[in-house]
Amino acid sequence: MALTPAQIRLIDAQAHAARTAWNLLHDWWTMLPKDRRTLAAADAAIRQARKEIDWLAVLPAQAAQAVLKTYFQAWKNCWDGRSDAPNFKARFRTVMSVDVPQGRDLQIKRVHRRWGMVNLPKIGRVRFRWTKDLPIGKASDNDNRITGARLIKDALGWHIAFRIQTLDAVPEPHTGPEVGIDAGVTIPLALSDAHHQDHGRPARLPDGTADRDKWLNPDEKAKLLRLEQRAAHRKSFRKPGQKSSSRLKRTYHQIARLRATAKRRASDWQHQTTTHLARTYSVIVVEKLDIPNMIKSARGTIENPGKNVAQKSGLNRSISQEAWGRTVTMLTYKTARHGGTLHKVPAPGTSRRCSMCGCTTPGSRESQAVFVCKNEGCGWSGNADHNAARNVLHLYRMGHALVPAAGRAVVRRPRGVKPATAR
Ligand SMILES: [Zn+2]
Repeated sequence: MALTPAQIRLIDAQAHAARTAWNLLHDWWTMLPKDRRTLAAADAAIRQARKEIDWLAVLPAQAAQAVLKTYFQAWKNCWDGRSDAPNFKARFRTVMSVDVPQGRDLQIKRVHRRWGMVNLPKIGRVRFRWTKDLPIGKASDNDNRITGARLIKDALGWHIAFRIQTLDAVPEPHTGPEVGIDAGVTIPLALSDAHHQDHGRPARLPDGTADRDKWLNPDEKAKLLRLEQRAAHRKSFRKPGQKSSSRLKRTYHQIARLRATAKRRASDWQHQTTTHLARTYSVIVVEKLDIPNMIKSARGTIENPGKNVAQKSGLNRSISQEAWGRTVTMLTYKTARHGGTLHKVPAPGTSRRCSMCGCTTPGSRESQAVFVCKNEGCGWSGNADHNAARNVLHLYRMGHALVPAAGRAVVRRPRGVKPATAR
């Protein structure tokens, strides 16, 4: 959104009020006897608080109701075993956001090819970048309309995300080819038909360590290094217990801006690539990787610490950097939208088996990048990630696919059973 400094201050105040409203609500809810914790009582408490505490009144009434709604939903998620119990929101760790729960208040109008105008409660009319077609005016009806919005702040400023309801026709079954995909070490997404998806940004630096800033250009990398050195220098003057100077804070903010840019480039590439894959292929097969457990297992336990921890967790880190979990989530809903399906196969052995002759021979994986079959009479060699992707597709064709990955699996737990017992 294009905002004036005054508008930024107003929305900041709203976001802080929303966060504080959450904290007050949580305090109130957990202090109250269980039989008096009702939605109606919480609603009355919020109304009273908005009347009596003037800095809470900067939050529009609808946004305050949205806080209550999300808070109650957080408890429901906890009771159904999907998440932990809601907690207080800390000032510096929480993403700043404000809800605009009613679509009709927004009065969206397109004023330019790239710009639109929107009404925000208690802020006024503001301009936003028009990046996607929105169902407004003649394009909107009961089934296709904007039902609300959410303002979110990151290091690059305030953004608006619209919540949209649309009616889509059931897609025709996809008739494209099948493909296996491997979350590669040398290629971000290796495909079994060799149409690998690469963003041309190596995950590793020449010395073998993971490059966490690969989405930045050389100039930006140099700038980041300079900023980090400056931050370290300024921090060295800070005495224990002293507040960060505003100069140090400004440097931190500049670093955060660069990181936010890199993050946005990564997710843009991810969206474009997964859309392309869902359009092209009817059946997409992926490995079922348990990334948090891979990182945990590399670390090992206190009694039995892992071997080659740095090496293994370095490998895992480059996997989690490519955000494999999010890629799978995107592929799940995008294949469904295009009439295709996503399947998961068990991971063990896919990187060690030769996809040409089917043998698993010791030492065939010569390096992270190269696979050479040691079976006499085969001797196939090629990219190791490509080989794994072909194995993934092979496992699917042999009927080893796990339960189709349609939608999110929810582990239901009977009420009153503690997680450990249920497990
Ligand atoms: Zn072979």
